[in-house]
Amino acid sequence: MSPFDYEVDVAVVGGGACGLVTALRAARSPGLTVAVFEKSTREGCNAQISSGSLAAGGTRFQRAAGIDDSPARHARDILAVSGDTEAAPLVHAVCEAAPRYVEWLADELGHPLELGLDMARSGQSVPRLHTDVGRGGGALLVRTLRRAVETAANIAFLDATPGTGLLSEDGRVTGVLVRENGRTRRVGARAVVLAADGFAANTEMLAEHCPDACGAFYGGVGTSTGDAISWGVALGAGTRNMSAYLGHGMIVPGHGTRLNPVLPFLGALLVGSDGRRFADERAQGYSRLGRIIAARPDGRAVLIWDDRMHDTAMNSELMRQSQEAGAFRRHPDLAALATALALPAEALAETLRMFRAVSSDGDHGPLSFPLYAARVTHGILATQGGLTVDTTGHVLHASGRRIPNLYAGGGSAAGISGPSTEGYMSGNGLLAALGLGWIIGNHLAVTLPHSART
Ligand SMILES: Cc1cc2nc3c(=O)[nH]c(=O)nc-3n(C[C@H](O)[C@H](O)[C@H](O)COP(=O)(O)OP(=O)(O)OC[C@H]3O[C@@H](n4cnc5c(N)ncnc54)[C@H](O)[C@@H]3O)c2cc1C
Repeated sequence: MSPFDYEVDVAVVGGGACGLVTALRAARSPGLTVAVFEKSTREGCNAQISSGSLAAGGTRFQRAAGIDDSPARHARDILAVSGDTEAAPLVHAVCEAAPRYVEWLADELGHPLELGLDMARSGQSVPRLHTDVGRGGGALLVRTLRRAVETAANIAFLDATPGTGLLSEDGRVTGVLVRENGRTRRVGARAVVLAADGFAANTEMLAEHCPDACGAFYGGVGTSTGDAISWGVALGAGTRNMSAYLGHGMIVPGHGTRLNPVLPFLGALLVGSDGRRFADERAQGYSRLGRIIAARPDGRAVLIWDDRMHDTAMNSELMRQSQEAGAFRRHPDLAALATALALPAEALAETLRMFRAVSSDGDHGPLSFPLYAARVTHGILATQGGLTVDTTGHVLHASGRRIPNLYAGGGSAAGISGPSTEGYMSGNGLLAALGLGWIIGNHLAVTLPHSART
């Protein structure tokens, strides 16, 4: 008698960015059956609420814009920020995948991508964030992927069917336990892919691994409870970079919306509640900026920008949401700005006098009224550490050997941002998700049809 309720070739746990790409790429091999087990599309995935910015070096979009980039240059930039040389092979592997899946999304799935020339970010030596033309963000990206999954004859997408554990025999994974219509099912699989994101919504795991993020604003989804990481660890898998997370320093307290991270690169000014500058605005990635703001006595700061910057920054879903929420206002003069943000007028006037708005296209001189301003604070969006994987996405045992039939990607795998929040470069989250999904799915499409069931 079969030890399983039913069997598939590939069982993917998690139907977000990594899981959907894995399923689509594996299912290109028409003889394979693929099942995606998703905890809850109603609660959603981080990819869906993300900005949907895809970092990729060497795309046709960049070539058309005359930008000289490559996967190797992209990898160099990431490693320079993260300092995690041990992860270099993995970083190179996902950077190699990035231009391919960006062009696949655009050319085969019809996702309306463009190169974000107005999306400068810290550490990126050339513009390489790709996003949808209307700047709808991750919701549109996930919609594109889910539509493609719906039309694939050999993929079953099972919503409200969380994975609850792994099945294994003699150290090799044989399938996954899922909760389906209130009953636990044993699903046999030749390959199990853990794509259930990280653990930012799990307060115990967060306290254990990222204590400095505890109590900070959480801007991710409630489904990221680290389930898959715990199952891997129970099987003896190694973990890496568990203390790393994607932080943010431009969350508007009281509203929970974010400001466009391009603002500092357009020349915006950041002041503390004393009205004084405390950091070089353009030198920080938004994750690192989160750390710096967290270290302020009140954990708050004020970002100030002018009309010129505003027009560019408004080209983003983040800013549209912030505007709708009333998260920032335009102030006619110093007195109005100082009063609205409770800043000491004299100190603020002096800071404004000394400040020059320098952007990537030059020095625009001092800021002049009317000026926009918003109070900002720090928060955590997603964790970046997880199960150790090799360059094909195989999960590695703590001893370094592969755990047969087990793969992980996205937030469930050890990320590419090094051991701390400061190592995150914009686009790393979706790069680790789509990149590993692409690699794992392609690998399974090629290897499974020719391998015997083990
Ligand atoms: C607000 C915000 C903005 C961001 N912006 C960007 C950006 O612009 N660019 C970028 O690169 N990164 C960004 N990120 C990070 C990025 O969204 C994540 O790194 C990425 O989505 C991770 O992909 P994933 O597939 O691992 O997880 P997700 O996309 O979160 O998908 C995981 C899925 O697994 C499901 N799941 C969880 N547990 C189980 C279980 N037990 N059984 C079955 N299913 C389960 C969840 O319901 C979810 O659908 C952002 C994150 C946030 C929160």
